[in-house]
Amino acid sequence: MTSRIETRAPSLVPSEPAALPFPPLPFHVPFRAAGEAGNVARALTGSLATGGAFAAACERRLEALTGAGRVHFTGSCTAALEAIALALDLGPGDEVIVPAFTFCATAAAFARTGARVVPCDVAPDTLMAGPEQVAARLSARTRAVVAVHYGGSVADLAGLDRLCRARNVALVEDAAQAIGASRDGVTAGSVGRYAAWSFHETKVIQCGAGGALAVNDVRDRRAVARVLDRGTDLAEARAAGRRYEWVGPGSTFRGTELAAAVLLAQLDELGDVLAHRRCLVAAYRRALADGPCVPLAVAEGTRANGHFAAVLAPDAACATRLMERAARNGLDLSAHYRPLHLEPAGRRLAAPGTLPVAEGAWDRLVRLPVHTAMDERDVARVAAFLARESVAA
Ligand SMILES: *Cc1c(COP(=O)(O)O)cnc(C)c1O
Repeated sequence: MTSRIETRAPSLVPSEPAALPFPPLPFHVPFRAAGEAGNVARALTGSLATGGAFAAACERRLEALTGAGRVHFTGSCTAALEAIALALDLGPGDEVIVPAFTFCATAAAFARTGARVVPCDVAPDTLMAGPEQVAARLSARTRAVVAVHYGGSVADLAGLDRLCRARNVALVEDAAQAIGASRDGVTAGSVGRYAAWSFHETKVIQCGAGGALAVNDVRDRRAVARVLDRGTDLAEARAAGRRYEWVGPGSTFRGTELAAAVLLAQLDELGDVLAHRRCLVAAYRRALADGPCVPLAVAEGTRANGHFAAVLAPDAACATRLMERAARNGLDLSAHYRPLHLEPAGRRLAAPGTLPVAEGAWDRLVRLPVHTAMDERDVARVAAFLARESVAA
């Protein structure tokens, strides 16, 4: 079961001609770390409740890795975003700006408070929202802005932070895909008032289901602890030697000790995983540079984490054709999000036609396999396939 990655970076020179049809190439193979079973066995000797030693070790490791102020291990990224929405005390009458092109959980986590989710458009080259797109949707009711770091790239955090501070609006980073990514030397997850990472098995490192919440302003630490302690003041009460009290909203958002035991083993190997993925993505970029399918742009100064590689096909029909023909050849390509306001639960958020970039890009997007169970020969084969099939009518 354990797939070991090569510690050496893969050679980027294709060593054999691009052959078709494919030996089957899955879109994603979840990474498995060597130390998982040992950590789980150790965890089984103690309490499996939340807030244990493995969870704490993951939290300290993530703080050191990302520079985020205070990190809490959670059951998922969605749980972290839900906790953030509660800590911000959002409700009816409040507005939260979210890029239209994101996973629906980004919006659902805030919508359930009764706040209105306001989708904004994205930039045509990165499919991420920056200050320009967010500013177009700001209103007197805006309480929070969610930056989504798409595909392991990093949104314009400096610009968004400036905009949000000037308007006294909370910046939240959905860094679900961005563990280890940085821009201008600043790590994703360390800038916003809050941030959330995912360790779902579809992400760069994973524990099946898991996440983390960053609290970057010390003034928010108490509110977050109360939400994570199921709406009680448990931590304060313990410190004061008194009985806890029910003080507000909360839930069991924390992640389990067994999941943390797996994640800690994965964090041990994060450096190798990132190196492997970055090599693959760089190889894709070189191989696809002059083709009709354009790789998503990465802003200057960005050190993406290789979460995935994706291209924009010239039109939707071409994207569909590529994915269908790839599937017949054993190659697993994947589309991605439909903009929030085109989804059944999002239709009342914005009218079709009002977010033209997201609406014009989502059905041209094709994601390419990137995982530690593949190498540069696979990249060469995928690139050759794209070059051939995207011109064939
Ligand atoms: C994966 C993902 C989530 C949800 O993460 P979970 O840990 O599965 O809850 C949220 N936002 C984005 C952008 C994601 O990619």
